[in-house]
Amino acid sequence: MSAPANPPAERTTGGTGTTGSEGSTGAAELAARFEREFGTPPDGVWQAPGRVNLIGEHTDYNEGFVLPFAIDKTARVAVALRPGSTVRLLSTYGDQGLFSTGLGGLEPSAAKGWTKYPLGVVWALQERGIEVPGLDLLLDSKVPLGAGLSSSHAIECAVITALNDLTGAGLAPEEMVLATQQAENDFVGAPTGIMDQSASLRGSKGHAVFLDCRDQSVQLVPFDAESAGLVMLVIDTRVSHSHADGGYASRRASCELGAEVLGVRALRDVDVSDLEEAAGLLDDVTFRRVRHVVTENDRVRQVVELLTDQGPGAIGDLLDASHTSMRDDFEISCPELDLAVAAARANGAIGARMSGGGFGGSAIALTPAPAEQQVRAAVVRAFAEAGYTAPDIFTVTPAAGATRVS
Ligand code: ADP
Ligand code: MG
Repeated sequence: MSAPANPPAERTTGGTGTTGSEGSTGAAELAARFEREFGTPPDGVWQAPGRVNLIGEHTDYNEGFVLPFAIDKTARVAVALRPGSTVRLLSTYGDQGLFSTGLGGLEPSAAKGWTKYPLGVVWALQERGIEVPGLDLLLDSKVPLGAGLSSSHAIECAVITALNDLTGAGLAPEEMVLATQQAENDFVGAPTGIMDQSASLRGSKGHAVFLDCRDQSVQLVPFDAESAGLVMLVIDTRVSHSHADGGYASRRASCELGAEVLGVRALRDVDVSDLEEAAGLLDDVTFRRVRHVVTENDRVRQVVELLTDQGPGAIGDLLDASHTSMRDDFEISCPELDLAVAAARANGAIGARMSGGGFGGSAIALTPAPAEQQVRAAVVRAFAEAGYTAPDIFTVTPAAGATRVS
């Protein structure tokens, strides 16, 4: 059921370019817009960030380690609870009109486009026996869509933080992580793990989130690139290869096969020192998939140690090694990502790697601040020379996790 009504008076384009650090001014504007759209002021405004994974790729479903950080680009929601059982949803992005549906017997087929994210969260709360009353919600997200920054989880985490407050459900961050995972897996239908929402919900300014995907334990690790004279560039290649889904499924299958042959619960339980023996037990392809996961887990732990003891200037080589492992062993890179990484490294970045699931999406390049313009120009030039679509390049800084802003 959807009923276009009261189209927004003004449309913003959302997406790239703007940081999510507008502070309370942005929140006041969103609240005012909410009042214009829905006729009453919101009960509050909440925000949740997108994330970048510093290192630890395809380790999550192997019960291993990841090291993402929340970024300074956020999704914001203004929300008001209402009597009755109708939910009305509106986004400042695109020209999608007001969406309205009943809260009883929510099913994925009731959702349209982006509304599956907030409705999935409502559904996951209902599944936990939490009663969600009628509500109005206005979304304004500055997290670029589909660039590998997890714009979907930013929405879900903003919504669950708001509803957790407003309903008095009192869910702990770990429970909110599992509820949003359930929303993505079973309502949205995306087979994602717990990394993205853990970063969005549990991130902290100037820190990365060292997450153990086996038990969800989190350790905040200082990652203050700016103080170290570095910037983190995200290079969105703007390619999304059609075999991404099949590639993900087949990598997962290889990892499961590897764990089974090696007799462990998950590849998390294999050490670098076990690899030599593993080489004799596995076929070549499975061995290389296993070697990526095992060495990547090791690199995550090394990066955590280096960040703690020496700071961000010390991790460049490990970022490079992660990229090489994904390119050669896990085979999830693509020419555009390889070119972005190579051009960034050749022009001043101290370390660079593809970040995210692979087969497209974004690369990250840790770059001394004085070299930023040179790296940007070199990457743009290299893409033009190769005949690729121009990449979108921007900086991110480690920012706070989800919170109420007004
Ligand atoms: P990612 O999470 O990597 O950015 P996904 O495909 O998981 O990519 O999520 C992108 C989807 O999230 C979009 O297709 C859209 O449905 C939704 N989305 C993201 N930002 C907004 C927004 N500002 N307004 C409405 N929908 C959005
Ligand atoms: Mg997503």
